[in-house]
Amino acid sequence: MLRHLLLKLRATGPVTVAEYMREALTNPGEGYYTRRGGIGESGDFVTSPEISQVFGELIGIWYISEWIAAGKPKAFQLVEMGPGRGTLTDDILRVFKQLASLLSKCDVSIHLVEVSPKLSEIQAQMLTGGKVQSNPEDKSVYMKGISKTGIPIFWYRDIQDVPLGYSFYLAHEFFDALPIHKFQRTEKGWREVLVDIDPEVPDQLRFVLSPSSTPATQNFIQPEETRNHLEVCPEAGVIIQNLACRIEKGGGAALVADYGHDGTKTDTFRGFRNHKLHDVLSAPGTADLTADVDFSYLRKMTQGRTATLGPIKQREFLKNMGIDLRLQVLLQNSCDTATREQLLHSYDMLMNPKKMGDCFSFFALLPHHRFARPDKKHKPESESPLPPVAGFSELLLK
Ligand code: SAH
Repeated sequence: MLRHLLLKLRATGPVTVAEYMREALTNPGEGYYTRRGGIGESGDFVTSPEISQVFGELIGIWYISEWIAAGKPKAFQLVEMGPGRGTLTDDILRVFKQLASLLSKCDVSIHLVEVSPKLSEIQAQMLTGGKVQSNPEDKSVYMKGISKTGIPIFWYRDIQDVPLGYSFYLAHEFFDALPIHKFQRTEKGWREVLVDIDPEVPDQLRFVLSPSSTPATQNFIQPEETRNHLEVCPEAGVIIQNLACRIEKGGGAALVADYGHDGTKTDTFRGFRNHKLHDVLSAPGTADLTADVDFSYLRKMTQGRTATLGPIKQREFLKNMGIDLRLQVLLQNSCDTATREQLLHSYDMLMNPKKMGDCFSFFALLPHHRFARPDKKHKPESESPLPPVAGFSELLLK
C-alpha cells in the first residue's frame, strides 16, 4: 500500500486526507478492511456488539418498538451498513426469532451494505453458516443467502442499490470509517490538509497544507464556522441525505451509533492497530483509520426531511432500553462464576463513562409523522399520548 501511494504521490502530487483514507481503508487490493478488517479481541479494535450479546438484543428491541409504534407494517427490511463480523445483525435476528409470534405475519428481510470481501465472507459464515450464493454478474446484489433463522439476506456494495420500501437502517461504527477532509484556518484563509511524501525521510509520508484554497475548502466549510481546525465527511453527508429521503418516502427509521461530537471537536483523525493508537501516516493499510462523527453535520444533511433524535450517550440509551433488567435476568440464569463475571465485565465496558459509556452516542432519524398526532378533530377526548421513542426516553415496561 505504501509503495502504491508513493508512486501515486510522485506522479500526481499531494492527495487529500479523504483520498488517503479511502485508499488505506477500502482499496480493492490492499485496503485495511479489504484484507485485514481486524475487529474483535484478536484484531485491532473491539466494538460494542463484540463485547456483549445484550447490546444487539436491545437494538433489536428498539426496532420492534418502532415497528409497533408504526402500526405493525406488513413487511420491513433491516439494512445494516458496515456490518463488520455480522455479530450485531445475528443478535438482532435472535430477538426477532424469540418474538416470532409477534412477527409471524410480517415479511422480514436483511440487507447488508459491505465493501470488504473478507468481512462479507465472515458475515455469511456468522449469519447463514456459509450457505450463500455469489452473484458476480449482478451489479447490485453480489451475494445472497438465508439466515440460520430462515430470513433472506442480501449483500450490496452501496446503499443506493438496496430496494426502496419500509426499512430500518443501522450504522454502528460505520460513519467513523468514511473518508474525511481536514482543514486548517491560516492568516490567508482556510487551507486543506494534504498528504505528501516527506522529502527528508525516504518512503515516509507527511501532512502539508494546500498553498491555496481547494474545491473542498470552497464547498465544505460554512461561513459561520468558528473553529480553527475542521474535519468534514461529505460521504457521510451523502449517505444521510439518502437515508433521510428513503425514510421520508418509504417510512422506517435509522439508528446511528458511533463516537462523535455535536460540531465542537477539531482534530480527531487517528489510527488503531493491535488495540493501540497508531500513527495515521505510517504503514497505511495495516491499521484502522477513524475520525469522530460530527452529528451536527449529519442532522444538517437530513435537510429537514426527517426528524432527528440525539446524540445521546450510549450509557443513557442502553439504560433507557432496560440494560439493567436484562443483566439481572442473565445473571439469575447463569450458575457459574466465570459467566457471571464475564457478564458484569462486559456491562462495565459498555456502560462505564470512562470506557464506552460516554464516548459513544446514539442518534436517530424518524419520519416527521412519528411525532404528529393524527387528526383527532372529531373525537378530541379519545387522544392517547404518542408512544415515546425507546432509548431516547425511558422505556416503560407495562
Ligand atoms: N459495525 C461493525 C463493524 C464496524 S467497522 C461493528 O460495530 O462491529 C466498519 C465496517 O464498515 C466494516 O464492516 C467495513 O468493511 C465497512 N465499511 C467501511 N467503509 C465502507 C464503505 N464505504 N461502504 C460499505 N462498508 C464500508
